[in-house]
Amino acid sequence: MQTYQASCIFDGKATLAEGPGWDEERQAIVWVDIEKGKISRFYPSTHRNETWAISQKVGCVVRTSKGDLLAGGQEGLLKLNPESGEVTSLQNPEPDLPVNRFNDGKCDPQGRLWAGTMSCEEEEGAGSLYRITNEGSVKRMVESVTISNGLAWSQDGTSMYYIDTPTRHVDAFDFDPVEGEISNRRHVIEIPKDMGYPDGMTIDAEGKLWVALWAGWGVGRWDPATGELLARVQLPVECVTACCFGGKDYRTLYITTASRDLDEEGHKEQPQAGGLFAADVGVAGLPTPVFKEA
Ligand code: CA
Repeated sequence: MQTYQASCIFDGKATLAEGPGWDEERQAIVWVDIEKGKISRFYPSTHRNETWAISQKVGCVVRTSKGDLLAGGQEGLLKLNPESGEVTSLQNPEPDLPVNRFNDGKCDPQGRLWAGTMSCEEEEGAGSLYRITNEGSVKRMVESVTISNGLAWSQDGTSMYYIDTPTRHVDAFDFDPVEGEISNRRHVIEIPKDMGYPDGMTIDAEGKLWVALWAGWGVGRWDPATGELLARVQLPVECVTACCFGGKDYRTLYITTASRDLDEEGHKEQPQAGGLFAADVGVAGLPTPVFKEA
């Protein structure tokens, strides 16, 4: 099996770095530190990292077609104007569940945001997956989720891949790109116990899935058609949270990591925990879709 090594490109010491997406226009990675409530934009060519502090936990961020950043926080959806720094609160689909927060979220190729929630106490089945459209409507699409993660769409637009982390599976849905409806949920990949837990995920131009492995020291490449593990990216950090393709021709895999659960000894053993990593994995990925604003 092919094995790749990732190297640290930004020793950002994040508590829980997550949700990377590639900003083609700025050639930058947009990402969040969930626990610190920060949204960042990192420029690999200059190593500059811009940061905006949001006064709540923030689980995901996507760029919008108008140049804003749309994020999911503990108090619902919010919009950040990166020029002015102004934050606008939007809809909160779970005002009755203050212990819940948004977790991973991605846009489908049509520009709808799919973002899931979870209990900050990781209560089983307390979260949901929502679909947010450009009309501002929020609809619950999947119920009884524990840790909503993953999210990727096949290049032909007819499959959506999804992860509820504790299940140790990647699931597929049939995806209707016109209506944005999902159906026929089934397991397509099982993550072996010794590889940790599946967290964030992205897809490459060959239709294979790159799954970040929480407590698994890396990222795995799986074939969703067969469930077969094809390749592995190794990191010197135990908790690997998410990944996206970017850089020239989308040939670099950018990877986020966490330091949250490390004790003093752990910090010594994994000094780059919470950093951003990059690896050339010999295959190109796909652009990160943006949220289509009305
Ligand atoms: Ca995640």
